[in-house]
Amino acid sequence: MSVEPPDIRWGLVGASDIAETRLIPAMRRLGHDVIAVASGSPDRAASFADRNGIPASGSVDEILARDDIDAVYISSTNEHHRPQTELAAAAGKHVLCEKPLALSVDDGRAMIAACERAGTILATNHHLPGSGIHRTIRLLVAEGAVGRVLGVRIFHAVMLPARLQGWRLASQAGGGVTMDITCHDASVLNPLLGALPSDVVALAATQGPWGAATEDAVMSTLRYADGTLAQTHDAFTIPYSPTGLQVLGSEGSIEAVGAMVQDPSGTILLRDPSGEREVEPDDRRDLYEINVAAFAAAVRGEGSPTATGLDGLRAIQVALAVREAVESGRRVSITE
Ligand code: NDP
Repeated sequence: MSVEPPDIRWGLVGASDIAETRLIPAMRRLGHDVIAVASGSPDRAASFADRNGIPASGSVDEILARDDIDAVYISSTNEHHRPQTELAAAAGKHVLCEKPLALSVDDGRAMIAACERAGTILATNHHLPGSGIHRTIRLLVAEGAVGRVLGVRIFHAVMLPARLQGWRLASQAGGGVTMDITCHDASVLNPLLGALPSDVVALAATQGPWGAATEDAVMSTLRYADGTLAQTHDAFTIPYSPTGLQVLGSEGSIEAVGAMVQDPSGTILLRDPSGEREVEPDDRRDLYEINVAAFAAAVRGEGSPTATGLDGLRAIQVALAVREAVESGRRVSITE
């Protein structure tokens, strides 16, 4: 009996929590091979490999030099995303990079250009836009279920789990709730509204008991060229509240509760002149499995990743504008 080769042979760049808890399980459920893990610390790489049944570990250069690796999943802290993507592209590897894609627009553009030059796929691991819940909401909006969209409210205030209360609360490594969570909101808003906001205002605060060196709560208001308004509330400090979003239209509204999470949960409620009804998404697959499967298909030349490098860039454009609005106390305009 012949055995099909695995779809993708992965190298992991980053001995991270998200790789361990979400991506390795998703890759293996899809029958992909996880060949090696790279870390800045040989000991951490070796113990991560051991704990997760990964055959090899080493430095980034060692992993990228292997010819039995097709693609890398980069889940290091955010300041490493650009240099590691550029190295991976130069080594001819396809790249699935964690969000935020980069810490500046120039860095994001350089990453896209590096993969274009190398002829490799660059995807951003935004898990929300591909979820059944968000695809269903976009379909309802495109079908005119709520008429003209006038407003979107995103509530994405959560309690940062104790195990993640490290670099996210620091001013280096791309910490702060805006780069961490507002960029997720943007990954949902951008395809939903089909545009970047033209203007952004925002205020932030440091609320948590941890004495964070950066903002751990932020609220923003976004205005689009067609007059649509959106609001976001992102926080690391709110323990007992669901996440979600409301899409408010001229002929109806959508309320999705539990929709800004890592699991394929959440509900969609559509309200229109005929009343109120729940809409069940037809896809409840694991969100990371959806991303890894779409990435593998894109590598085979079939379709596009859930979020491309450009989608990742657009998400950070919004998050960076929110942060600039916070820091300057002024309205910030976004130009493509
Ligand atoms: P972690 O803090 O778990 O890991 C990030 C890096 O920190 C690792 O690559 C590792 O560096 C280093 N590190 C890990 N453990 C230790 C330790 N005990 N001591 C010292 N350094 C350590 O980060 P996350 O998994 O939370 O996030 C990684 C990336 O994934 C970020 O870009 C984040 O924004 C993104 N993310 C995305 C999510 C999504 O849903 N798409 C969800 C969560 C995170 P090294 O590799 O050098 O060993």
